[in-house]
Amino acid sequence: MKTILTGFRSNSVLTLGNYLGALLPMVRLANKHSKDSHINFFVPDLHSIISAADGDLRENTMRNLKYYLAAGLEINDNVHIYRQSYVPAHSELCWILNCVATMGEMSRMTQYKEKSEGKASCNVGIFDYPVLMAADILLYDAEYVPVGEDQFQHLELTRNIAIRFNNRFGEIFTVPVKTRDQVKFMEMDNALRIRDLLNPEKKMSKSTVAEGSKIMLDDAPEKAAKKIMSATTDSLGKIKFDMFNQPGISNLLQIEALVNDIPLQDVISTYAGETRYGDLKQKVAESVSTMLETFQARLAEISDEQVYALLEVGEKYANEVANKKLAEVQKVVGLR
Ligand code: ATP
Ligand code: MG
Repeated sequence: MKTILTGFRSNSVLTLGNYLGALLPMVRLANKHSKDSHINFFVPDLHSIISAADGDLRENTMRNLKYYLAAGLEINDNVHIYRQSYVPAHSELCWILNCVATMGEMSRMTQYKEKSEGKASCNVGIFDYPVLMAADILLYDAEYVPVGEDQFQHLELTRNIAIRFNNRFGEIFTVPVKTRDQVKFMEMDNALRIRDLLNPEKKMSKSTVAEGSKIMLDDAPEKAAKKIMSATTDSLGKIKFDMFNQPGISNLLQIEALVNDIPLQDVISTYAGETRYGDLKQKVAESVSTMLETFQARLAEISDEQVYALLEVGEKYANEVANKKLAEVQKVVGLR
């Protein structure tokens, strides 16, 4: 059985962009494959501490786990949810892989360059977390790792580390498939980027300060509707999907399609020839507020106890698999 592994950092509440562009497609993918694959849907809480979290990390972690369930992740015997820090093998393998990764390749990581740029000092975690990510993946022989574009370079690094390790010590790790095959597997449109509501040339980001730019999953539905109504559009007076010339309008069409799970082309056809932006906004505002209402109601129904019960099973499974792999690694490198 193949393993599909993915996780969401638990630093803060997610945006509508994170949800529509990443969480929801990943949950749908997991559900599609969970009859014949292991699905490891974890919270990388150790990755979360490379930068300060908004609020309480433990609460954020619990909320993320509930997000997975509220987004529709169907639990069966093949689906495992767990917290990274509850599986110590991740940290142990990370150390061993640190001794396989090179300074040269690590220094080329764009995320590191971006995150450390202009800072007088930068913690070692920011430099090293791609190796921890490699450990997260390799411990479970995961072939498929659905991630955003920003993580592709780290996935390639994981492949390189695995190949190098295997060459040196024998065939211990399953090498995850190449990025382009990951993309095919994910069946998602990689160009998919929900835009900032006020500056639609940019993508919606949780770290953007302006409130009106982003919709958060915990926004009151009416508040979210207002943000849609105030979204920046243009003065061209036609409803057309054209991200270059009409990013604001295109973004609304895109949101409408994703929220209702209908093909974008259908939404585009519905509005072909229409000119009244207000009508489109009204419709999207309704769609988004209904979606949030449903999502938030589902979230409220998920109890801590329910999550802890799933974690107990998931973390037992994760520790068993990870410890077995770690033991093989320790043996071949000469520690055991
Ligand atoms: P930050 O501003 O802190 O970078 P972010 O909103 O960009 O936050 P990330 O934590 O960087 O979120 O990304 C989490 C996941 O959400 C990734 O898989 C990323 O590709 C996806 N994602 C982020 N923003 C969008 C967006 N606007 N549209 C679609 N997907 C997105
Ligand atoms: Mg980001």
